[in-house]
Amino acid sequence: MTELEESRWRPPRRFSAAIVSWRADQIVEPVSRLRFLRRSAAFLSGHPIQRTLRSAQVRHFSALLLALGLLPIPIVSDGAGLKRTAIQRLAVGPGGQMAKVWQVESTDTQELYSNGLRIEKRYQLPRQEPVAFVRYRTASEEQERRSTPYGIVFHTTESHALPFDETQNRALRRIGAGVLQYVRQIRAYHFVIDRFGRVWRVVPESEPAHHAGNSVWAEDQHFYLNLNSSFLGVSFEGPSRDESGQTPVTAPQIHSGRLLTDLLRSRYQIAARNCVTHAQVSVNPDNMGIGYHTDWAANFPFEQIGLPDNYQLPPPAITLFGFNYDTSFRDATGERLWRGLDAADLELQSAAVAHKTNLAVWRSGLVQRYRRLYNLVRQPDFSLEGN
Ligand SMILES: [Zn+2]
Repeated sequence: MTELEESRWRPPRRFSAAIVSWRADQIVEPVSRLRFLRRSAAFLSGHPIQRTLRSAQVRHFSALLLALGLLPIPIVSDGAGLKRTAIQRLAVGPGGQMAKVWQVESTDTQELYSNGLRIEKRYQLPRQEPVAFVRYRTASEEQERRSTPYGIVFHTTESHALPFDETQNRALRRIGAGVLQYVRQIRAYHFVIDRFGRVWRVVPESEPAHHAGNSVWAEDQHFYLNLNSSFLGVSFEGPSRDESGQTPVTAPQIHSGRLLTDLLRSRYQIAARNCVTHAQVSVNPDNMGIGYHTDWAANFPFEQIGLPDNYQLPPPAITLFGFNYDTSFRDATGERLWRGLDAADLELQSAAVAHKTNLAVWRSGLVQRYRRLYNLVRQPDFSLEGN
């Protein structure tokens, strides 16, 4: 790590027991969750939030015991139901419910799904050989492959957005068609949702699209590098920001975004926490900064799409690989994402304390790990197996 990189690090400005507790809620695996809470407690001992944290610890430890069947379940008329509810909450997390969606019919130009979703196929590229989707075990760096994607990255096409008005029908259709042709030409996304809410499949889901570039994401036991090879790309037609700083997405786009997300999650068993925005996963290896692309850095309607507010998740690029961010990135994002950034800073500091080292040394080790992995995955057909 250079001095410049070190000087760019900012201590967390806002953190609280709520963040620690919330972060703990995101860790599905009970033992890892408890470990995280203990690490946080060690770091925060003496801090005013300690008491609240302790109660969060008790709550989570009870949940762990309950999950392991070591805690007596209160005998009520629906005792079995109570146990099931508690364990489901552990396994699924907030907003993680998955709707069942199936295909109703398919023609040459369109597919219809049970939730009302229609997928337009006129711009769809011909299918090629299916490609395996890749992830890595966090502990061993062992590569795992499967035939279906692990997550979704949400984008905007960064194209011009005319006023959404019937006087603009012709121009809106013309711009939409131009965007689709371009996306098709460069295989940019699997799906584009145009301003009228029509869902267009461009790249078949069995193949990668060039949507995420250098990027990082992770869940409890696995991480993802360069998400073209592991996640689907869903793009909303329009710019990421207009003059007012808002993302001018239309109500039909949001509605269709939800239907499409429900289909993809149902079809590929995608976890809610693996549905994230490009700004959350994009990194720049040259300066070890996050947020190289900033589409949906703020304003993504997670709730309306039927997802938990994933902005609050600490970006794994920071916690796993020591990436950084500067004030301009923080300014470009909203308060919702700051909670994720603060949680990441806190987690990083806690990990340094737990490993009895200082933050700079800890981060430097993470950066070295990223550099090593980055060089390996850039080589085509490389497998990390056996390393
Ligand atoms: Zn993007």
